[in-house]
Amino acid sequence: MSATIFDKIIAKEIPADIVYEDELSLAFKDINPQAPFHVLIIPKRRIATINDIQAEDREVVGHLYVVAARLAQQYGFADDGYRVVMNCNRDGGQTVYHLHLHLLAGLTMGWPPFANQKPKSSGVKHE
Ligand code: AMP
Repeated sequence: MSATIFDKIIAKEIPADIVYEDELSLAFKDINPQAPFHVLIIPKRRIATINDIQAEDREVVGHLYVVAARLAQQYGFADDGYRVVMNCNRDGGQTVYHLHLHLLAGLTMGWPPFANQKPKSSGVKHE
């Protein structure tokens, strides 16, 4: 598992607009925001993808959601709502292989989150 740019942000080797930090996690503004408020919440210990989450990571992964809720409250988005997203691998749109929650807020979001896209195959089943 190789280092990513997020390791450099954790180590403060490159700048980031940090909005929250504690012993388990770091939250900073996304460099390419997709909403008026777009923050990434990452564990300090690197986990590459959702597929790599182990049972012992329960606390830190749950903690990311606690931080998301706290930030949404702090920045005034809790009541109107917001979206929390974690992408996984290529089809999920993941580009940085260090687990992160996207916290997006400040506009009314559409659903479903994809548009004008066809399924990869007709074999996808929802049981
Ligand atoms: P994902 O595509 O889900 O892996 O999300 C990675 C996110 O990291 C993207 O939204 C990028 O804009 C963001 N990103 C990449 N480099 C930086 C950086 N140096 N500082 C802040 N956000 C970054």
